[in-house]
Amino acid sequence: MNCYEIREQIYSYMDGELTLWRMRAVSIHLSECPPCASGMEFKVVLRASVAQRSAEALPSELQGRILALIAAERSGAE
Ligand SMILES: [Zn+2]
Repeated sequence: MNCYEIREQIYSYMDGELTLWRMRAVSIHLSECPPCASGMEFKVVLRASVAQRSAEALPSELQGRILALIAAERSGAE
């Protein structure tokens, strides 16, 4: 599995929607590839902050930038 495939499947991975084999392949890649691992941490933090509505506490300019970033990531992953 290469970095491009990881990026495509990272959201499914975080949602636990992949098969066991793919979950394993992704986690092995993440443990061996620091850029992908830190990219995933960033997405987890972003998603968590949105899910918890703590984004409301952010300045509206930053909030807009985060939401745009998420939208861009989403459209890039599909
Ligand atoms: Zn990678």
